Amino acid sequence: MSATDDRHLTLVGAGLAGPLLGLLLARRGWRVDLFERRGDPRVHGYAGGRSINLALAERGLNALRTAGVDADVLKQAVMMRGRMVHFREGGEQLQRYGRDDSEVIWSISRGDLNILLLDAAEAAGVNLHFDRRLESVDFDAQIAHFVGEGEDIAHRFNALIGSDGAGSSLRAAMLRATDLGERVEVMPHSYKELEIPPALDGGFRMEANALHIWPRGDYMCIALPNDERTFTVTLFMPNEGPISFEATADGHAAKTLFERDFADAVPLIPNLVHDYDANPTGMLATLYLDRWHLDGRAVLLGDAAHAMVPFHGQGMNCAFEDCVSLASHLALDRDLASAFAAFEAERRPNAAAIQAMALENYREMSDRVDDADFLLQRQLERQLAERHPGLFVPRYAMVSFMRVPYATAYERGRIQRALLVEATTGRDSLDGIDWDWLDHEVHARLLPLDAG
Ligand code: FAD
Repeated sequence: MSATDDRHLTLVGAGLAGPLLGLLLARRGWRVDLFERRGDPRVHGYAGGRSINLALAERGLNALRTAGVDADVLKQAVMMRGRMVHFREGGEQLQRYGRDDSEVIWSISRGDLNILLLDAAEAAGVNLHFDRRLESVDFDAQIAHFVGEGEDIAHRFNALIGSDGAGSSLRAAMLRATDLGERVEVMPHSYKELEIPPALDGGFRMEANALHIWPRGDYMCIALPNDERTFTVTLFMPNEGPISFEATADGHAAKTLFERDFADAVPLIPNLVHDYDANPTGMLATLYLDRWHLDGRAVLLGDAAHAMVPFHGQGMNCAFEDCVSLASHLALDRDLASAFAAFEAERRPNAAAIQAMALENYREMSDRVDDADFLLQRQLERQLAERHPGLFVPRYAMVSFMRVPYATAYERGRIQRALLVEATTGRDSLDGIDWDWLDHEVHARLLPLDAG
């Protein structure tokens, strides 16, 4: 049993948030033990072995900057300037995310990022313990039991921090001790990952600097570039119904679906049948909790506290923002219970806002990006953003390129969307728009955005 003191913290889960938080805390003088149920990916390779990538945006990048690892991460990242929409009837169109290349997002490999963060955390003095799964917690005695490699370790803790993801064992242990008000909403859609390999000359098979989308109504494919010149394709589909995972029982059925609905992608995915059969189907859910901490003894963050659907590409970004927030509250307040409470008060409304925006974005990505009324609203949005900088800021920009609280972005986005709908209803172009009225309404409905 290990000893502990009041400058010691025990983190559970060394995925994305765990090592980043460990690094931030170790740099501020905390002693940190970080336990992970899997083996060390630097020795065994990243679990699963497949290339899986994530979109990194300003919030996540800022957290990496705070930890001093942003430059190393960006060396391995691929810039994505916008959405490349692949139409059903053929042809594609790039919809830029921002005004120019200062407003972009980045595709990074989950495995490479995990390894980079583990190396940095270890170098900062974090004690890493792999192959150690949290099994149970005795909160009264402040002892956590980890199992792995035939051993059962009783670890005495000062406080436990749960960075152990959506299926968090620490959350389960806390739920046995107290009511966290847990609710899980499972989406009626799931996902499956496929791969586009490099071209024969070793280059990318499609435009590299874009997030590709094949919107098809209630289902869609997306593809993100990897720096080894591959793309990870993700198919999102309902679980049941005429076009669904249930109806697409195997790789051959998937190939038929792709030939009909994603025809330009078929020649790019030579192992479609194999990938479909071999790769797991992942479920999608939103996790809501009324409480994230158990006085000063335990606190949750990242997916363990607020798992969300991936349609805004913000789960990791939000988890990284959590890490910066928790590390600063712990620096400001030596009392763990009040630091955890302040962290929760700051982050919980924001997590709820990005959870809601992520759910809304499914419809936008899968169904709206090729609609005429959506495109007209986007055109007006861009013009209003130019006419009113710092006042009318597109919601996507607030979420992805800025650090204004998610809750602010959500609320302002709601007001702006209502204005865009009001101004464009019944129109098929911006000709004849009443700019005087619109400019007046922008000032009447929005206060200047104090960008964070
Ligand atoms: P995780 O990364 O899940 O890490 C949890 C860790 O805890 C794991 O290493 C696990 O092995 C370990 N663990 C679990 N149980 C135990 C235990 N009992 N004991 C010890 N260790 C344990 N986010 C983005 O920002 N951008 C994107 O583009 C994006 N795309 C996504 C696409 C898909 C299909 C999905 C499903 C998610 C996506 N996300 C994206 C969300 C992102 O993956 C998560 O929000 C992020 O991984 C959360 O980080 P975390 O550290 O909280 O949890």
